[in-house]
Formats: sequence, structure tokens, C-alpha cells
Amino acid sequence: MISERELGEFHRRLHGWFRKNGRDLPWRQTRDPYAVLVSEFMLQQTTVAAVIPFYGRWMKEFPDIAALARADEQKVLKLWEGLGYYSRARNLLRAAREIAADDPGVIPADMPRLLRLSGIGPYTASAIAAFAFDRCVPVLDANITRVLARLFDFREPAANARGKLFLERAARSLLPESGGCLHSSSLMDLGALVCTAGRPGCPSCPVRKFCRAVSPEKIPFKAPRKTVLHERDPRVFAHAEGRVSLVLSDGPRWKGLWLLPPAGRKGKILLEFSHVVTRHRIRLEISRAHPRTNWKSFPADNLPPMPAPHRRALELLLARR
Ligand code: SF4
Repeated sequence: MISERELGEFHRRLHGWFRKNGRDLPWRQTRDPYAVLVSEFMLQQTTVAAVIPFYGRWMKEFPDIAALARADEQKVLKLWEGLGYYSRARNLLRAAREIAADDPGVIPADMPRLLRLSGIGPYTASAIAAFAFDRCVPVLDANITRVLARLFDFREPAANARGKLFLERAARSLLPESGGCLHSSSLMDLGALVCTAGRPGCPSCPVRKFCRAVSPEKIPFKAPRKTVLHERDPRVFAHAEGRVSLVLSDGPRWKGLWLLPPAGRKGKILLEFSHVVTRHRIRLEISRAHPRTNWKSFPADNLPPMPAPHRRALELLLARR
């Protein structure tokens, strides 16, 4: 661990580097807790580059908690379309409604109340506490985890219970007394820009003096990969008079989104491709069918929210016509 005497210098170097080199991200231009809440939901398992355009559109459509709490779920899912992991959108809507229904209708600053909201786990709660309310709490995203594991030369898997406990203690040991937002943003950007996955840029690292990593490119250690599960998903393309048939998913996968209807019997396959959902590799096989009365039809040029693989399949098949 870094001694208390050295901690001041560590902070000066790290925070000074961030002030000059930190990323100018749209959600950092404000301390509006709602903007931070939206960005943190979007950033779960998604890259900054992918989130930026969605964030801009979202904030225009739903500029505050009240606007989102009033929104229709289908409209919310439509705006989320293409970002994936749709349970985040439904949870964000649910959390907005929980906040709006509570007196005084504002996002709480303390961890226990944040953790009671839908879709908010320990990471998101600590990120909101730090970035919106400047709290000095450990924030452990993938970038910060990598930086800390290397700084402390932690040569065990970072994602298991032991690894998480060690890294949380390490993060706590580096916290300043104030300025939680600056501190966590600095660690995060150090991981994104210098202490990157693969080969880190140690010669230009502002905190190299404090780093214990001997072979940083090998850290953090990863747990063995989980087996990939292969699945087939036979679906149909039912198109008539400019309309296509879809069915509403009742979950658990893609709940609330519209899908190509399931295939009842084997037909000639028009299109097939694979996509990945968590550890499932799914082969989408699409054959033709006639529309049925228990399927809902939509104009082909005005489709409801759909998951990316089904929308892509539909667009390819419509383009062939
Ligand atoms: Fe990462 Fe290298 Fe800096 Fe250590 S010296 S924190 S490994 S960039």
C-alpha cells in the first residue's frame, strides 16, 4: 500500500495529469445527477464511443427525471434500440418512476438509498455518488480495476470475491478526503488512456513511481473463460402488402421488444447468421411464412423497438424484395 506521506504526491501527480489530459465526455460537462444516472446505465457493459450518440439523443428526448418517469416503455426501448442489454432501459425507466414517486423526487446521494433503486448495483451506486455528488467512495469499473491491480501488483483473478475485496481495499486506501469526482475520473482515464489493456504506456504514466507491477501486461489476471453455449433460433419472415409480422417478447431475453415470429415447422432458409448474447452463440435461421392472426403486423417503414439481430435480419430481407 502507498504510505500516507506518499499519498499527497500520488494525488498531485494523478489529478494534475487528469486536469491536462482527461477526456471531455458529454456527461462530464454537468454534475446533474440525472445526466450521470443515464450515462452510468448506458455505460454498463458498453464502450464510451458506443454510448455518446445514444446519450445525446436520450437527453434531448428525456431531459430530466420527470420527463423519463412519464415516458411510455415502448418509446424508451425504441430510443435504446441498438445499444443492447435492454433490461438496462427498462430498469432506468423503473428507477426514474421510483425516484419521481418518492418525496422530494430527486436522485438520492447516499449509497443505501441509491442501492434500493431498480437496476442500481454497487458499481452504479458508487459511480453516481462519486460523479454526481463528489463523494469519496471506491469506484471499480474495468479501467480502475486494471490500474489498481497493476499499481498493487495483484496477481490473482480480479473478478472473483477475493479479487474484488482486495481491490476495494486498495481503492479505499487511495481515496482523498474530498474531491471524489476528480479522483475517480482521474483513475478511470488513466486506465482508458495510459494504463490500457494489453501493453500499458508506463513511460508516460504520472504515477509510475508508485507502481509495483513487474509484468503489467499480464495483469489483471482473468478467471478461466466460461463455455460458450450454442443455440439455434428458427424464426420466420412474414411480409404482405408492405407490412411485416412480429411478436412481442415476454422475456426473459429482450422483454418488451418485438421479434420475428418463431418458426413452427422447418422451411427453406432465406437467411442465417450468428450473434452473441452473453455466453450464448445464437444461430438465427429465417424462413418464409404467411402472416397469422395472432401475430401483430407493422408497416415495414415504421417498426417498433427490436433487438439488433432481428432488426438486421428484417432489413436484409426487406432490401432483397
Ligand atoms: Fe499502469 Fe504502467 Fe502506470 Fe503501472 S506504471 S499504473 S502499469 S501505466
